[in-house]
Amino acid sequence: MEILKGAETSARIKEDVKKMLDTLGGKIPKLAIVRVGERPDDVSYERSAVKKLASFGLRAEAFSYPQEISHEDFKREFKRINEDKDVDGILLLRPLPKQICEKDLEAMIDPGKDLDGISPVNVAKVFAGDDSGFAPCTAEAVVEVLKHNQIPITGKRVVIVGRSMVVGKPLSMLLLKENATVTICHTRTKDLKGTCQGAEILVAAAGRARMLDGEYVAKDAVVVDVGINVDEDGKLCGDVDFDSIQKKASMATPVPGGVGAVTTAVLAKHLVQSCVNRFKQSFGN
Ligand code: NAP
Repeated sequence: MEILKGAETSARIKEDVKKMLDTLGGKIPKLAIVRVGERPDDVSYERSAVKKLASFGLRAEAFSYPQEISHEDFKREFKRINEDKDVDGILLLRPLPKQICEKDLEAMIDPGKDLDGISPVNVAKVFAGDDSGFAPCTAEAVVEVLKHNQIPITGKRVVIVGRSMVVGKPLSMLLLKENATVTICHTRTKDLKGTCQGAEILVAAAGRARMLDGEYVAKDAVVVDVGINVDEDGKLCGDVDFDSIQKKASMATPVPGGVGAVTTAVLAKHLVQSCVNRFKQSFGN
């Protein structure tokens, strides 16, 4: 089984980012990472995103707010960041605390700065097959991994396990645009194993440690593991039981070192794209 390392796809995206940066006349795009509370996952993601963006030659500033901030106060702060001309893109870490209505924020965010595709405008574009907006970075990262590794998508039977708005649903639309025949599975799917066995490309995005073992994988299938879980021994793992698929799959992404590495590269690409779009608008073309 060939291991599809995210670093290779990420390096290729970095080259694209460099080329786009060269068109900006020295301007360095800036990302605002907005966090409420101190969830360890968010803090560590924020830290690694700032580092990764710096390695791409981009700026990132973290804006953090206390867990108990009121809805109105947070909206006021968010509006300020949203309207800041120095900010080219925004990443809002979620879930937000209960007192804050996420729908309000989704409606507020400038679609041009909405790098993770949460605004209704960007969601609609993804579902309409219009690539002028921003798709959620992780969903796009899966497509990047497939394309970078020259895995044909057209006409392929793709099964996605997971139907969230962050991964499963938008990914199904992106792959449909690439002419795949897509099946989406979830907790009410009756024959999950049988359905997965029919996949030429199997994408795991359920958030359940090692739930898909070799029995779920067809001979020579390509397996993309989006899951990031911590197992009972405190070890980071995906949704796929990597060892047990070795003799079945033709290719698979590892966890860590797979899709996760590409997600931040896509975020960097979206940031520079947003800056290019704004740069063009300011010159009226
Ligand atoms: P989520 O919102 O919890 O959604 C999980 C989806 O999987 C749901 O649609 C759920 O079905 C389905 N599911 C859960 N258990 C299942 C089971 N036993 N059988 C069939 N379907 C099942 O999670 P998410 O935000 O999409 O994230 C999914 C995974 O990707 C997580 O491990 C997360 O950490 C990871 N992730 C990785 C990245 C990255 O950069 N690599 C980015 C984002 C997320 P129902 O709808 O029926 O509940």
